[in-house]
Amino acid sequence: MRLDGKTALVTGAGSGIGKHIAETFVAAGAAVVIGDLDAGRATDLAGVLRARGGRALGVRMDVTSEQEVEGAVAKTLAAFDRIDVLVSNAGIQIVHPLEQFPFAEWKTLLAVHLDGAFLATRACLKHMYARGGGGTILYMGSVHSKEASPLKAPYVTAKHGLAGLCKVVAKEGAAHGVRTNIICPGFVRTALVEKQIPEQASALGISPAEVVSKVMLKETVDGEFTTLDDVAQVALFLATFPSNALTGQAVVVSHGWHMD
Ligand code: NAD
Repeated sequence: MRLDGKTALVTGAGSGIGKHIAETFVAAGAAVVIGDLDAGRATDLAGVLRARGGRALGVRMDVTSEQEVEGAVAKTLAAFDRIDVLVSNAGIQIVHPLEQFPFAEWKTLLAVHLDGAFLATRACLKHMYARGGGGTILYMGSVHSKEASPLKAPYVTAKHGLAGLCKVVAKEGAAHGVRTNIICPGFVRTALVEKQIPEQASALGISPAEVVSKVMLKETVDGEFTTLDDVAQVALFLATFPSNALTGQAVVVSHGWHMD
């Protein structure tokens, strides 16, 4: 599973899942652009990857800003001439009971996940179509692209929405050699999840340990968190898969939490 000579743009790659995908893709030979709202984290990670002998560039990229997304794609092309793989990964989590959900927070979450995916997809598709060499677009969905949980109304809505966007890209992109799939992880112990444990404990009136065992891992086959590497290896597999046999698919990576 090699990506030599290919370039990948990974959004939200300053930390967590996106960071590990960026590291994995560089190790597989790709040039990787780390796009993140946190410019410091993006440039620091790029520096570490270059020090290891890889090709990497960090850029500030707020995925909700049309101008910043277009700018990050232009910087990617200026640095590496091509984009073969987009991993649309940037995401946030906000939990509240539905009847108390502030409208502004609902809109913020949908903007990061859905506007962000749309803007990055459009900018990369224009380049992939013009270059004529095809490409791959991977979305970071979630088991919440398939299932619901209490307190997560906009997150579940957005992650189901990304599965729809993926299917449209599969249909439109096929004529241009562009494939797409959505990766649907279970709980991975990143900053996004660490923050939720005390928040869910207080909203549900249970202990943090019970949030882990009774909410997050209850339905898995082995009581284990999905790991960063579980997700990154699936991303590498999908980024290197050579045919349209896998396009428009939701690939669930959740230790059996969700089974189709
Ligand atoms: P994380 O908080 O560790 O990393 C998210 C990154 O996105 C951060 O570096 C942050 O700066 C960046 N970001 C936030 N808003 C942004 C914006 N507007 N523009 C650009 N970058 C922005 O979270 P993570 O757990 O690695 O999550 C990554 C993706 O994986 C998200 O889409 C999340 O929904 C999804 N996911 C996470 C889990 C999990 O359990 N951790 C499970 C399923 C899916």
